Amino acid sequence: MIKNIILDFGHGGLDKKGKYTTRGKKHKFPNGEWAYEGVLNRQIGGMIQAYFRAHGTRYNVVTTVGADDSRDLSLGYRVRVANKFKPSETIFISIHCNAFNSKARGFEIFTSRGTTKSDAIAESIANSIEPYYKELKLRLRYNFSDGDKDKEADFYVLRKTRCPAVLLECLFFDNREDFDNLKNPEFQKELSWRIYQGIQSYIEKN
Ligand SMILES: [Zn+2]
Repeated sequence: MIKNIILDFGHGGLDKKGKYTTRGKKHKFPNGEWAYEGVLNRQIGGMIQAYFRAHGTRYNVVTTVGADDSRDLSLGYRVRVANKFKPSETIFISIHCNAFNSKARGFEIFTSRGTTKSDAIAESIANSIEPYYKELKLRLRYNFSDGDKDKEADFYVLRKTRCPAVLLECLFFDNREDFDNLKNPEFQKELSWRIYQGIQSYIEKN
């Protein structure tokens, strides 16, 4: 039975002086506008946390870094937060946005390699966001080579957490159209609601 949900908001945020605490993970658009990945991760992740507070009160929801905490905490620290809890009672959800060449777009969800419980969590979240992304004509960057929608990667937080873990790349923050969605509070609200529901329906089925 899942009791603990660890929410991880990738990278750092903007500190009180408005300084971004992460090197890289930002993009300047031709119009001078800056996109900061860690800020988007906190906005989306903070809304997921709020949905758990309002509707999923039976869970112990833990953040590795608060949505209003701008520190860029180490990956080791983030993993240690998750590994304090019994793996069979815990899931770890890491929220990120992607960047590549300003042209690439879309959603990706990652698990560690091989068939694990993480695959079912990723599938449940992907299924939950899919109708909304299709409606907005946003790209779903799935990899069906092993029979499911997630991609596999050796990301540190996926390898080192002892509990099932997934990492979302919500959209590409260095792409104009994707970023216009990512920074839109209405989009953030709907996406985070669907991530919340995807997590819920995984827990209910398992
Ligand atoms: Zn990231």
